[in-house]
Amino acid sequence: MIRNAIARFMYGRYGNDQLNIFLAVLYLALYILYLLTGWEGLALLSYVLIGYTIFRTLSRNYDRRRGENAKFMKLAGPFLGWCRLRRAMRRDKEHRYFKCPSCGQHLRVPRGKGTITVTCRSCGASFQEKS
Ligand SMILES: [Zn+2]
Repeated sequence: MIRNAIARFMYGRYGNDQLNIFLAVLYLALYILYLLTGWEGLALLSYVLIGYTIFRTLSRNYDRRRGENAKFMKLAGPFLGWCRLRRAMRRDKEHRYFKCPSCGQHLRVPRGKGTITVTCRSCGASFQEKS
């Protein structure tokens, strides 16, 4: 019943995206900072942020919102990719990760095989690496 009402209300509206999640996290961070410091400028800024986030969620202007998110993803994409790679590395206990000494390409080798010869799949350089 309530879910239906929300679904009806949200029909034709933009909803959530990566930029909104980022803004909401930023809002929380600023608000916590405000609680810690008591500096009212931070509270004001956090209200503006959450207001903008809600405005984006409820907006019916898909093209504008999608454009904003695309710009955001263009800026934040490399950083988000880097975070994803870091997390994958931490979880992967089977491989050792390192960079190619000649071109900087990320490479991985299976762990526990002793010293092995690695050939970079990007530039073709060969070198010894402990695994
Ligand atoms: Zn290389």
